[in-house]
Amino acid sequence: MVKVLPNRVVSTRKPKLGQNFLVDLDAMQRIVDALGDVRETTVVEIGPGEAALTELLARRSGRLIAVELDRVLAAQLRMRFTPLTNVEVLEADILQVDLGTVLGSTPGPLRDLRPTGLFKAHVVGNLPYYITTDILLKLFAAADRIETLVLMVQKEVADRITAAPGTRDYGLLSATAQMYGTVQKLFELGPESFDPPPNVRSAVFRMKMQPRFAALSVDEPGFIAFLKVMFAQKRKTVSNNLKLAYDKSIVKSSLERAAIAGTTRAEAISLEDMARLYLELKAERTPA
Ligand code: SAM
Repeated sequence: MVKVLPNRVVSTRKPKLGQNFLVDLDAMQRIVDALGDVRETTVVEIGPGEAALTELLARRSGRLIAVELDRVLAAQLRMRFTPLTNVEVLEADILQVDLGTVLGSTPGPLRDLRPTGLFKAHVVGNLPYYITTDILLKLFAAADRIETLVLMVQKEVADRITAAPGTRDYGLLSATAQMYGTVQKLFELGPESFDPPPNVRSAVFRMKMQPRFAALSVDEPGFIAFLKVMFAQKRKTVSNNLKLAYDKSIVKSSLERAAIAGTTRAEAISLEDMARLYLELKAERTPA
């Protein structure tokens, strides 16, 4: 039985903005707990909505930056949190926000009162599902400024992000996410935990940002582009996918040197082996 927020003031909802508000009290607590101790930390909340998580986060975080696209909700949030000097509400599209700038300084009354050096933020949110992948890619690209993500996404997305190589759900999103950090699915929620209930199940995952590019001796843009080639057609063998971007002879010799059978499918290959193959291909030549 889900314990829900009593007496909610119901705002006008915009389904196009993915506005399924969390009303499950246990889930709110578990999400915020999953961030760990954030008393000295900057936390960015994506899509605070009606403040289901924001209320808890505001009490715990050193600094909270809440980014909400909906003008009405952003105005309500600003009024509600004005008395708290550690909370900033940005009315903005998270996809347009320059995280480097937002995390760089402390605007408002706290400007110059806190250290301005490079620090890493925690990012949390019950994401608007219609732009999940774009948000994730943006966060991965800012991995050097982020320590931990705790995000609610559609269950299938969480399953793909956390899938191990060789399993049914492993694919481009899994490989990409796992190049940027260690991932862990925490728990699932049914539609009844939200108002209005979405048509899908949801899940929360945590990701500790620990990019692996340097450890695997690969360059980030080149290797991410290579993963897209490897997973270009899910049912095809790696040999067939690679031939879309590289000469046939180079594909054959690189696979041989990396000791990977051309008939293998990308989802069965570990990131370590992917990196070895990438380096072999790179040593041979640039893509055709
Ligand atoms: N955090 C609240 C909760 O758990 O109840 C709301 C979550 S609701 C699933 C997603 C929120 O993201 C909504 O408040 C919506 O207005 C906001 N949103 C949608 N698109 C956004 C965008 N591009 N940038 C920032 N916020 C966005």
